Amino acid sequence: MMSILRMKMDFGHLLVILTLLCTGLQAAAASEWGYWGKNGPESWPGICTTGKIQSPIDIVTKDAKEYNGSSFIFYQHNLSFPATLDNNGHSVGIKLHGAPVHIGDEKQPMGYVLEQMHFHWGAEHTVDGLRDPLELHLVHYNPYYANFSEAAQHPFGIVVVSVLFKLSRYDNPHLKPIVEATKKVSCKVGRRTAIRGELIPSLLLPKNRKTVYYYIGSLTTPGCQENVGWFVLTEKLTVSQSQVNVFKRVRGDNGRLLYNYRPTQKLNDRVVLKINLG
Ligand SMILES: [Zn+2]
Repeated sequence: MMSILRMKMDFGHLLVILTLLCTGLQAAAASEWGYWGKNGPESWPGICTTGKIQSPIDIVTKDAKEYNGSSFIFYQHNLSFPATLDNNGHSVGIKLHGAPVHIGDEKQPMGYVLEQMHFHWGAEHTVDGLRDPLELHLVHYNPYYANFSEAAQHPFGIVVVSVLFKLSRYDNPHLKPIVEATKKVSCKVGRRTAIRGELIPSLLLPKNRKTVYYYIGSLTTPGCQENVGWFVLTEKLTVSQSQVNVFKRVRGDNGRLLYNYRPTQKLNDRVVLKINLG
């Protein structure tokens, strides 16, 4: 009995300490956009509201048109890279350091270069109306343009590869270093840390990289530029609830980021392809 009381007291102390740590370090400035309240998605500016090919969308599997596409190759993804993770106030972003990681085909291997990766909790793309707890975006830009920002202003400037994570009873071991790094940056917007060891991008991709949903859409954060080719991999990875909970404790510009997904947008006259890559 005594020991249970003691445990409860210790846990209480720990909570107080954690709360104090986060309170003391919280950024003062509130962001102009967020995921709920008065600066939530309905109030995002410009094309975010007026656009006709916005993302994310609900993927209706029975409506996806089967299509046999040419090869689509992940280059350098099996190599390991030093990586850093930062709290940008809207998500946690990962930067790889070293040789560029890119996707393309045999004719154009440097088709699109990886700029950064980040997570959304829950997932932004739903499949037949169902939302998974986590989605990873691998954001690439066309190196014909000087940088990501410039590429985002041009048609076909950006390609995002999306990986959905379904809930599992077990931790995903490959997310472990990312989850640990997330804990280190969760109290303060702008904080950055190195990911322990090195990161192998292919471990964050499912085995089946040949069957993807493809459609034309937008960035899912302001300015919502409509120059994005979306490749949502059909095979999902897994994540445990306790791993998802670490993301939900991240502090954003407007308090804890309990979720950071944009609601699904109207498909309008777009078609989603289910591509079987050669
Ligand atoms: Zn994203």
